Amino acid sequence: MMKIEESIRKYMSRMGCGTMCCRAALIDMDGVLYDSMPNHVEGWYKTIEPLGIPCSREEFYLLEGSTRTRTINLLFNRAYGHDAPEEVSLALYAEKVRQFKLLPQAQMMPSADAMIATLLAHDVRTVLVTGSSQGTLLEQLDTDYPRAFNMPYRITGEDVKHGKPSPEPYLMGLQRAGVAAHEAIVIENAPLGVQAGVAAGVFTVAVNTGPISPQVLYDAGADVVFDSMPHFANHVAELIETINSVKI
Ligand code: CA
Repeated sequence: MMKIEESIRKYMSRMGCGTMCCRAALIDMDGVLYDSMPNHVEGWYKTIEPLGIPCSREEFYLLEGSTRTRTINLLFNRAYGHDAPEEVSLALYAEKVRQFKLLPQAQMMPSADAMIATLLAHDVRTVLVTGSSQGTLLEQLDTDYPRAFNMPYRITGEDVKHGKPSPEPYLMGLQRAGVAAHEAIVIENAPLGVQAGVAAGVFTVAVNTGPISPQVLYDAGADVVFDSMPHFANHVAELIETINSVKI
């Protein structure tokens, strides 16, 4: 892990800002608040692999956060040299959701509740920014993370036109929180989500909760990478305090 203060200084010089202030945290859901990625990966793999379309579980981790259209067209173009017809794409996605629902419900990510509690204790406004529209986990949020993501501080796949890696969802998150880019942090676990946070101009923390190499997250532009949620939860207070105090 890169030193926290060094990563903040690098961000500030890249963005040309002399001070920062951590007023909001824009937080992804799958793979951050819930250990749900194995289920998404399994859902995709069980849908696509039986069709004889070449794919691997690892690439579904790398494609996390991508829209249905983008994911399916990437596989179709590689296998057949053309996009999937829309009705085929919709049917495949319906099958993926069906496979997902057959799996045991994803648990809360260990230590994510402690991370949220630390943010709230530092008066950091928490905002959910997920590409997901699947109701199952969204309905669990109020129970598992009480008061953290009340409306309007909840952006889902229904709210945006362009999914990650477009900056749109995170720009919308900044707007809902009423803060500028240098007054927030993004908390992500996937390369496309990291790209979206960076493109929105926000200091982007990657928490590597899956099997991918941390280098993939740095290559996507992450300002700092933590190797697990418990690791990040132990450092989040230090991160906020350093952001609020460093001047360049
Ligand atoms: Ca994610």
